[in-house]
Amino acid sequence: MDEFSVVKLESLPLSQDTFQVLWDSVLTPSISDIPAGNDAWLTDATLQGGFDEHLFGLAPAAPSTDGLNPPASMVPTTSDYSGEFGFQLRFQNSGTAKSVTSTYSLALNKLYCQLAKTCPVEVLVAKEPPQGTVLRATAVYKKSEHVADVVRRCPHHHNEDVVDHRSHLIRVEGSQLAQYMEDINTKRQSVIVPYEPPQLGSEITTVLLNFMCNSSCMGGMNRRPILTILTLETPECQVLGRRCFEVRVCACPGRDRKTEEASKAQGGTKSTKKRKNPPVPDASVSKKAKASCGEEEDKETFVLHVRGRERYEILKKIYDGLELLDKEKCKDKGKQEVAVGPSRGKRRMQSDKSDSDM
Ligand SMILES: [Zn+2]
Repeated sequence: MDEFSVVKLESLPLSQDTFQVLWDSVLTPSISDIPAGNDAWLTDATLQGGFDEHLFGLAPAAPSTDGLNPPASMVPTTSDYSGEFGFQLRFQNSGTAKSVTSTYSLALNKLYCQLAKTCPVEVLVAKEPPQGTVLRATAVYKKSEHVADVVRRCPHHHNEDVVDHRSHLIRVEGSQLAQYMEDINTKRQSVIVPYEPPQLGSEITTVLLNFMCNSSCMGGMNRRPILTILTLETPECQVLGRRCFEVRVCACPGRDRKTEEASKAQGGTKSTKKRKNPPVPDASVSKKAKASCGEEEDKETFVLHVRGRERYEILKKIYDGLELLDKEKCKDKGKQEVAVGPSRGKRRMQSDKSDSDM
């Protein structure tokens, strides 16, 4: 991952005395991210501050390379980047049937799948990447308030598993060459597999992912939405391309996809309608008045246009009477409202008196 290199980069100026140790660790795949052909990148970046953050797809707000600031790069980058090899992902069209175990929503860029079930992800490149290229899958929490937390399996599922990489949420199925990594600095986990070019007559390479916890797992994801980042990387972990999609691991992927797609479509139009056409003030007032009374009856409001003041006054009296009845039904509240009328009148009379006294 590109961000790991920056972590290392920023710790360098403070760590010159242990450079050998650092250099040894740079050789592990999860740390370095050296741009091809730029052997002097460490010196350039650390001594002159000439590090080009855009090379790594980092936001311009990334901290300076003086090694004092905590590295923002602890958080993996989640922006899509097809790169020079035109890296893209595609998902099979699985629909939203009840029985489906893995289905992808293009509208939401979200994969819905069942725990530990096979999720085929199709990898496309426009140009063959160099030999030794790997694919890496990393999970990260989607919301900014959770993004600093490392995504791991819940204690329950972790403890009942027996494999070495049992704490890893994302697995690659069907490859003996999958390697499970944990970054020594960030503790973030990922799995890498060698990129294999498509077989003859095919334009895609399929990677089979498994997600080993439910999104709802207590002590794990705990209902926090996650993103999966797939990166195409050189053996030295230089990022060649990056693709991101949200993942929900649940019991009914088809149903949940259908529901969330529908609510997105509905929610979107509803909110814009509301903004464009605010409700008529009168209607909202009468609605509120009824609601404050705790009525569970018909709260729908209508606007009645009346011709002539006399008729209006008559209808208004009827309406006021009905309102008063409603209020009386509200027990004490209603009584208070009724009592307010006369007392106001009394006060007015009193003030009148005082006025005349003066
Ligand atoms: Zn779990």
